Amino acid sequence: MTIALRTLDDGAWISVNDSREVGVSDIWTLPAREFCGCETPHVMLEGFSGVDLRGVDTHVIADAVGMCIDCGTRDGIESLPVGRIVEGEFKRYEPESVQSPSVAAVSGR
Ligand SMILES: [Zn+2]
Repeated sequence: MTIALRTLDDGAWISVNDSREVGVSDIWTLPAREFCGCETPHVMLEGFSGVDLRGVDTHVIADAVGMCIDCGTRDGIESLPVGRIVEGEFKRYEPESVQSPSVAAVSGR
């Protein structure tokens, strides 16, 4: 099964099978101290620079730029898991639950 992944509108959306599924301006909770010095970084996404499928669990992994709303740090986020493909359908992760970019990046190799 082919999953069509791309970014749309200059990185404002991640499109899965021609449906806009994940947009910027959500606030994602990232693992402590991976993004900035905050105990629990709350990062508002500003744009997606890329999206890909990874691993046997078919995580949908995005590269993005975001800003911590607590301390103002602005940086790139590599390999943010935004959802996964289950039986050909996209299941979005909740931004409020802590994602772990580094763990996801390693497990897919
Ligand atoms: Zn911060």
